[in-house]
Amino acid sequence: MQVRFWGVRGSIPAPGPKTVRYGGNTPCVELTCGGETFIIDAGTGIRELGFDLMKRAAGKPISGRLFIGHSHWDHIQGFPFFTPLFLPATKFQIYGMHGTTRSFQEVMAGQMHSTYFPVQMHELPSNPEFIELGGPLEAGPVKVSYHFLNHPGITVGYRFEYEGKVVSYISDHEPYGKLNVKGQFSEKEDALIVRFIAGSDLLICEAQYTADEYKLKRGWGHGTFEDVLDLAEAAEVKRMALFHHDPLHDDDKLDARLKEGALLITSRKLAVDCFAAREGMVVEI
Ligand SMILES: [Zn+2]
Ligand SMILES: [Zn+2]
Repeated sequence: MQVRFWGVRGSIPAPGPKTVRYGGNTPCVELTCGGETFIIDAGTGIRELGFDLMKRAAGKPISGRLFIGHSHWDHIQGFPFFTPLFLPATKFQIYGMHGTTRSFQEVMAGQMHSTYFPVQMHELPSNPEFIELGGPLEAGPVKVSYHFLNHPGITVGYRFEYEGKVVSYISDHEPYGKLNVKGQFSEKEDALIVRFIAGSDLLICEAQYTADEYKLKRGWGHGTFEDVLDLAEAAEVKRMALFHHDPLHDDDKLDARLKEGALLITSRKLAVDCFAAREGMVVEI
């Protein structure tokens, strides 16, 4: 399995000289397994991925599967700029959840309504197939499962399994136990998340806020480094990639947070390998 990060920024693109090292594009991760392409989320990072897929295909038809975790802007705003969808020979399946009041396809088409965008979904020459998730699935050589996260709106995390290797994606999640009064509900839900990511060779996870920021943004659906470290420890995760970086955190701030995180990992005597995802980074699993 190969993982490539095309967009690692949360909430809104944050381009500029202070974010060049980690990158300013919003979430998009490419997973290559058995020669097939899997994409998680369609933030602005998917635009460059589209160009790269076209280069690799060298004129041959492009195919793949795109999994959307949730429909907040930062996770879908690159979709209308994913150029392979404008080629008639492209075959893409797009997976996600039914919305609260609309189908998954209608949710995705909303941002391409003529009020917001010049080309509407039904005008895409490749006519992508939209599939609402209803359980785990075998997607080519990979088993894909999903689990609901604690985030405003309908949000899921993903788990990809291929030849004994596991990559999990938990972006946009606030621990239940932190938001709710400690009790049976929170403990049960937090334990289910741990079970969902158990044994991951790589956990792609958000740690958007510092502890001080969290106090001001409680209930916004994000967590802290300590939160994801708790998750990684309980689930015996081997490597964790910090992801969905806050737009207020520039390169120096992220370096500093990573150093603080490393100290915490050492003080807790944990073996997990933790790094901060950067745009363009490739990780072999
Ligand atoms: Zn987000
Ligand atoms: Zn979100």
